Amino acid sequence: MTTTLLAEIRDEILASGPIGLDRYMGLCLGHPVHGYYRTRDPLGARGDFVTAPEISQMFGELIGIWIAATWAAMGAPNDLLLVELGPGRGTLMQDALRALARAAPTLRPALHLVETSPVLRAEQERRLGDASPVWHDSIATLPAAPMIVVANEFFDALPVRQFQRAERGWFERLVGLAPDGNALAFGLAAEPDTRITASGPNGVLMTLPGAALACVRALARRVVADRGAVLAIDYGHVRPGFGDSLQAVRGHAFVPPLTAPGEADLTTHVDFAALGRAATSEGAALHGPVDQRDFLLALGLRERAERLGRDASPAQRDAITAAATRLTDPSRRGMGSLFKAMAFSDSALTALPGLPPAKP
Ligand code: SAH
Repeated sequence: MTTTLLAEIRDEILASGPIGLDRYMGLCLGHPVHGYYRTRDPLGARGDFVTAPEISQMFGELIGIWIAATWAAMGAPNDLLLVELGPGRGTLMQDALRALARAAPTLRPALHLVETSPVLRAEQERRLGDASPVWHDSIATLPAAPMIVVANEFFDALPVRQFQRAERGWFERLVGLAPDGNALAFGLAAEPDTRITASGPNGVLMTLPGAALACVRALARRVVADRGAVLAIDYGHVRPGFGDSLQAVRGHAFVPPLTAPGEADLTTHVDFAALGRAATSEGAALHGPVDQRDFLLALGLRERAERLGRDASPAQRDAITAAATRLTDPSRRGMGSLFKAMAFSDSALTALPGLPPAKP
């Protein structure tokens, strides 16, 4: 299938040679006209994938409780910014604000949403318009103030570079043209990148999440200077490892990542160890990561499900139980242990709800 974006990428490669995976992901997801997130709402049963807040209102409600407790731990500043990165349809924040109104009735946060997709901004306006959100293209324009930042399945969508180990060093994995001159194909740079000094056995692939690391560092500097905490929930791994986690998903199924650029969601597993190091290198305190299962259960998922079930029909009760199971199931089918929750904060916050005590 030739997409308009495929033709454009082909032209770019013909003109100036193979491109890095970061450039490829950036174009596929964020191209101003043909980018995946620019052109559609990818979420939900009819979209390409389903996220935790779309599975159950309980997810956002528990995040709302987390926000209330974190705000209290910060000393309840009255100029709090509540920030969400990549809010999708706005479902998580809508559920969180409802829970927050009950848990912290005196809190009147200023809502800031970092979102590049016009389609999803419209969805967010529909659900969150009453809270008068301010939208940003990136975190750079967020005002300086105490802040609580929430990001669910945001960091996995940021562009990465990959490098393959060979005798002479680490060679960048590039996207070029296949021998037929039409299709896209992976290849390697002709020369190793001498700036990379990591060790690793021959043949392994290393992923460098440059955009995510830069974002974490910038946010860590913000919360260290102005106080606050950042909660990231994503699928990923706790220990650094080698291997290719780049995946393309379309219509709830995996597809080859190079065949229909701009038509499939592209993500990689989040390297929580690397993100955590980036946060602490800026002086932030690190909380977690823990499995999403443990995080949600510690925040009271079971109690919340029971409470909801009390006023529900038997069919609704079954749906609530099924959703709670899906969010916490540690097997491959569930999200319980594939997904992790991690936070970083200013060092005065030594304990955050649902997470182990901070490591400096
Ligand atoms: N948090 C939501 C949506 C996850 S999908 C949920 O859990 O349902 C990823 C979200 O990040 C989308 O809203 C997408 O438009 C946004 N996004 C992706 N790349 C982005 C970028 N570089 N800057 C800002 N938002 C981005």
